[in-house]
Amino acid sequence: MKYPKVQNFINGAFIDASGSRSLEVISPIDGTLLSTVPLSEKSDLDKAVKAASMAFSEWSKMPIKTRVQIFYRYRELLEKHMTELSNLIQEECGKTFDESKAEIEKSMELTEFACSLPQLVTGEVLEVSRGVECRTEYNPLGVVASITPFNFPSMVPNWTLPNALVLGNCMILKPSEKVPLSTGRIAELLKEAGLPDGVFNIIHGDSQMVEAICDHPGIEAVSFVGSTKVARIVYSRATSNYKRCLALGGAKNHLLVLPDAIPQMTASNIAASMSGCAGQRCMAASAMVAVGQVDHIIEKICDEARKIVPGVNLGSVINQEAKERIERYITEAEKQGAKILVDGRNATAAGKEKGTYVGPTVIDFVTPDMAAAKEEIFGPVLSIIRVNTVDEALAIENRSPYGNAAAVFTQNGGMAKYIIEHASAGMIGVNVGVPVPREPFSFGGWNQSKFGVGDITGKSSIEFWTKLKKTTTKWNPEAGINWMS
Ligand code: NAD
Repeated sequence: MKYPKVQNFINGAFIDASGSRSLEVISPIDGTLLSTVPLSEKSDLDKAVKAASMAFSEWSKMPIKTRVQIFYRYRELLEKHMTELSNLIQEECGKTFDESKAEIEKSMELTEFACSLPQLVTGEVLEVSRGVECRTEYNPLGVVASITPFNFPSMVPNWTLPNALVLGNCMILKPSEKVPLSTGRIAELLKEAGLPDGVFNIIHGDSQMVEAICDHPGIEAVSFVGSTKVARIVYSRATSNYKRCLALGGAKNHLLVLPDAIPQMTASNIAASMSGCAGQRCMAASAMVAVGQVDHIIEKICDEARKIVPGVNLGSVINQEAKERIERYITEAEKQGAKILVDGRNATAAGKEKGTYVGPTVIDFVTPDMAAAKEEIFGPVLSIIRVNTVDEALAIENRSPYGNAAAVFTQNGGMAKYIIEHASAGMIGVNVGVPVPREPFSFGGWNQSKFGVGDITGKSSIEFWTKLKKTTTKWNPEAGINWMS
């Protein structure tokens, strides 16, 4: 085993989970046994919630300008340890080094946004009547939880923790049991940056721990990022326990390609979008809707896809189960009459034969009723659906139950505007294959890609992590009691 067994992080210290359930953590790159992760018990969660509740009284009283100093230092530590943190992401998640590094860079950007929060949460004050003032202030909620998926071991935890903590909350993080290592380093760096014990805690576990979090009376709010199936479970369970919840789910993003699109730029963008992070991104290009005659662009997409080599500039998928699932989608589409233009099945990476790789795959003539057109494949697979008009393309996009992202490739501004207006997705790209809004703009999809109000990052997240106090003050008794006058 390459690393010591993973432990929970409670009250500023790493401690063993009670109970004996655990899982192996295997690197999808080459099958190396990295560690074991405990599947904690409810009693472990009780300890973490107790530590967080005790830390809350001091932490929430600390002025935000003081709290934020810790996050300036945390951002510096992320930068200082960039290579080591990127290597760890790569090992546990299977991404390329550059993709892993991009996660740390994004984590830094998220932290920079959190450092700007003192400028954004000043509240409001107005003299609403003579001598009578109304003011608002953002108050933290208390102990909050963040439950995260496997595909971004650092970035997704950093979607929530800097903002939630700077705003005065204390947090319990439940990382994916598939990638538990990166968050341990995050905890160490936060401690080194000066974060008081108990403000940030990590509990490892599986679905049972997620259920325990949703049920725990000491937790005020739950943020979740993962598949739509689980987002639904978490949203309904947490809200039925009267908690605030924001649950981000899966995606099936449609990229509409019009005949006037710039061929090479479009092809490189689409190939990068569908294959980046081995297609394991909720923002990945998954379904390309080819409007009219775009064969010349499809040819270039295939050329680009063929340049993407597993183990070189394409990472692995998370495990054998994922590899088999992705390959099943390809085989099923082929059986139903789709044409495989670039075939990534049975891929291996030289010298990493125990790794779980799927090569870039381009499937043409996928029909809207096929599973490859409708379902989230979560692998480096592009399904091309052919249509004759933009309205047909939009009808396909609109029918998807998801609504994370959509994009259009065209040089026609009017057509792009029409598509922006009619696409049913929270994040839209125009000649951009991965339209992730950068800070301070917020991240969040529509429809079954997100349950709950507001977005998870940026300015929109302030409302989620705080409650607004409204105070009306009068110091002039001579003004009488009718302050409305
Ligand atoms: P997942 O839903 O399987 O797991 C997410 C979390 O939920 C993990 O911490 C896991 O332990 C827990 N979990 C798993 N099954 C559970 C159950 N039955 N009950 C309660 N908890 C359970 O997701 P994943 O496979 O880790 O991640 C991939 C998914 O996440 C994809 O669908 C992807 O689109 C989505 N995702 C979405 C976004 C977004 O912003 N919308 C971002 C990243 C990933």
